[in-house]
Amino acid sequence: MSKEYDVVVIGSGPAGYVAAIRCAQLGLSTAIVEKWRNSNKETVHGGTCLNVGCIPSKALLDSSYKYFEAKEHSDVHGIKLQNVKIDVPAMIARKDKVVSQLTQGVKGLFTANKIDDIAGAGKVVSKNKVKVISHDGEEQELTAKHIIIAAGSVPINIPSAPIDQETIVDSTGALEFKEVPKRLGVIGAGIIGLELGSVWARLGSEVVVLEALEDFLPAVDKQIAKETLKILEKQGLEIKLGARVTDTKLSKGAKKTVTIDFSDTQGDQKAEFDKLIVAVGRRPFTDDLLEVSAGVELDERGFIKVNDQCETNVPGVHAVGDVVRGPMLAHKAMEEGIMVAERIADKKMQVNYDLIPSVIYTHPEIAWIGKNEEELKASGIDYNIGVFPFAASGRALAANDSDGLIKLLADTQTDRILGCHIIGASAADLLQQIVIAMEFSASAEDIGLTMFSHPSLSEGVHEAALAVNGHAIHISNRKRRK
Ligand code: FAD
Ligand code: AMP
Repeated sequence: MSKEYDVVVIGSGPAGYVAAIRCAQLGLSTAIVEKWRNSNKETVHGGTCLNVGCIPSKALLDSSYKYFEAKEHSDVHGIKLQNVKIDVPAMIARKDKVVSQLTQGVKGLFTANKIDDIAGAGKVVSKNKVKVISHDGEEQELTAKHIIIAAGSVPINIPSAPIDQETIVDSTGALEFKEVPKRLGVIGAGIIGLELGSVWARLGSEVVVLEALEDFLPAVDKQIAKETLKILEKQGLEIKLGARVTDTKLSKGAKKTVTIDFSDTQGDQKAEFDKLIVAVGRRPFTDDLLEVSAGVELDERGFIKVNDQCETNVPGVHAVGDVVRGPMLAHKAMEEGIMVAERIADKKMQVNYDLIPSVIYTHPEIAWIGKNEEELKASGIDYNIGVFPFAASGRALAANDSDGLIKLLADTQTDRILGCHIIGASAADLLQQIVIAMEFSASAEDIGLTMFSHPSLSEGVHEAALAVNGHAIHISNRKRRK
């Protein structure tokens, strides 16, 4: 007999688990179907983000940064450390512990919210039926008034670099190295490639990043992208732009290396690495997810087609997170999950797709929101710019962490903030102040009239806002207009 629910959610990543919890909070009977299992064959929740994405990558970024700081910068503070060593298995074990704490936490939230947690692969059979095939091959059918598809994404594979998770790895394999590779290649200078490359570079790998495009971080404000390239190269990452990888060959023997062929402006070239990370992007994961007769449409890139409210073409069937258009980011996924839950419960929430913050968790961090200069120029909008370099921040200097800058863009006519672009320590958290300000349509003057604690990195946000109108105190005001 088929079980009946108000809502069945497929996938318990950030989009799905958040949607399920909000549905349950709103009094809807809810089930969530998840097929991910750990090596002990236990179902694990949290999807890519908690298991092999945001959280483990940040755990390794934090550990590797502590090591790097201890080794390279403790002297500056008058701290003498000798023989600073890295224990890679211990670092990986700590990362695994953080992951397990969080995935267990999601399970606990399902229990607390009385959400039925169903193990197996879900498939949408019709507008209100989901078939679940358990890991033992048993089938059950769930009936739902509403279905929320939150099946996420998986790494893109390229035929020129087939993943074996030993020598040629994807982002998941790059979180599991047993030792620091002497020479590490990274294909793709996107967010994931730069973050994972940074982890292993800090631990001592010679890292070469190969990027097919000529432009570095094309989605990022040009000034910030240029600064990022300079800082990452200073940290020892070799970043080859316009370098397209065309082939790879594994060596013979027990401890394999990989030789890659790539072409750039200097012609065809070769390079040899101990490990190679393929970080060329991710694709929506719709394998075995939709019965053709269910009629759920995909777009030309394989994403489930949805409108701004995450409704598919089939009434009652919604899709959220990485499996639909838009940036593949956990916070975007979560907000879509909440929006759909609220709309199912007849509330009127709407995600503001113009205000999705982006962050690259290198050190310093890179974070941005809204329009960049190139976009404003292209759309013919007049803007003022306020820039604050962290070299003028007392707090950044006290922390010996003063690389980078904050750049704020505001409309010349109205002073309304149009964008903010930061490279610097804690950029993600600093940016959030401007995300909130923009959500409330604040002007640069509004931020300028707000009091900020001293000394704090946030004062940089204040100064950048004051600089927009030529009123900054701690830097010379070169008011710049387009
Ligand atoms: P997912 O997290 O992919 O979850 C989908 C879930 O659905 C999975 O658990 C999967 O097993 C399950 N599923 C799929 N099909 C079925 C089925 N048929 N039946 C049952 N279950 C199914 N984003 C950020 O915002 N910040 C970061 O710092 C960040 N860092 C990242 C670092 C790395 C290395 C990677 C790879 C990604 C990172 N991301 C980051 C992206 C982030 O992980 C994704 O945007 C986010 O996980 C998307 O959430 P989701 O719920 O849509 O999909
Ligand atoms: P992202 O999609 O942001 O994760 O970035 C992936 C990056 O990988 C993009 O900038 C692509 O240009 C780059 N890329 C894709 N294929 C190749 C390749 N064969 N060689 C080098 N870079 C590549």
